[in-house]
Amino acid sequence: MRQAVQNTLKASVTFEGVGLHSGQPARMTLNPAPVGHGIIFKRTDIALGNRKIPAIWNLVERSPLCTRLVNEAKVSISTVEHIMAALAGCGVHNALIEIDGPEVPIMDGSSADFVRGIMKQGIMRQGAALTAFRVLKEVSVTNGDARATLKPADRLKIEFNIDFVDAAIGHQEKSLDMRNGAFARELCDCRTFCRRADVEAMQSAGLALGGVPGENAIVFDGHSVESGAGLRHSDEPVRHKMLDALGDLALAGGPIFGHYIGERAGHSLTNTLLRALFATPGAVAPVFCDPIMVARLPGQGLVWNEIPQNRRVA
Ligand SMILES: [Zn+2]
Repeated sequence: MRQAVQNTLKASVTFEGVGLHSGQPARMTLNPAPVGHGIIFKRTDIALGNRKIPAIWNLVERSPLCTRLVNEAKVSISTVEHIMAALAGCGVHNALIEIDGPEVPIMDGSSADFVRGIMKQGIMRQGAALTAFRVLKEVSVTNGDARATLKPADRLKIEFNIDFVDAAIGHQEKSLDMRNGAFARELCDCRTFCRRADVEAMQSAGLALGGVPGENAIVFDGHSVESGAGLRHSDEPVRHKMLDALGDLALAGGPIFGHYIGERAGHSLTNTLLRALFATPGAVAPVFCDPIMVARLPGQGLVWNEIPQNRRVA
């Protein structure tokens, strides 16, 4: 049987910007890394001690608004979900991410700049087999009226539904088979969003300090939308939640063959789901991928011309 191999970047690529929650500037460089390395963040602004933070589910400090990783030395990196989604969506398995601040730059609120940067450098195939995780048993977790579920599937499928009182969001649902570049084509340009009613509360709690409505986040208030030049998709919020889910699922440590269903779920609940998946006997098993299996994962079939270039629908 032919085996699919791991991928890294052909060359380093750098992004600069401010963190959505901290408001702090950071320069982040994605570097190629050897086989079996996985995705690891390294805080270059910290001089001493263990500055490396592996992108793995059991280092997540659960918080509702972003995904933050903390290593044993209490060194942390915040808001990793959009770069993790871009790496998973482009099929990058090994990368060392050097960053000189506490939070990943928010860019335009989506993963589009990261995807363009990664695709521009190109993906390098490495000579070692790719291991993925196959979901064998349904696992579901809840928190109030939110639920997150993983079911067995022979591909990665992401399904999400959300309900907001703001009429400009309302009820949205979407389901996508993530193969054939679906992430880059359908999700990667969808921006983070929040409700106007939550902005003040977040800022008095020291969050969303780098948020600029319309520039790096969409703000909904009843019928009104602050989104810069308009929405990029009429259902941009639910698509962004799917982007977040891909990034949070990438913290499994490898690609997942499974059907994820998020019902009003968020970062914290998706991490709880991964913890439950790995804690439930017989729920998940590592599997060597062959090329046919890899063709059913995100990262295959990406076409440069299909990466959205700031489209607007409204
Ligand atoms: Zn997000």
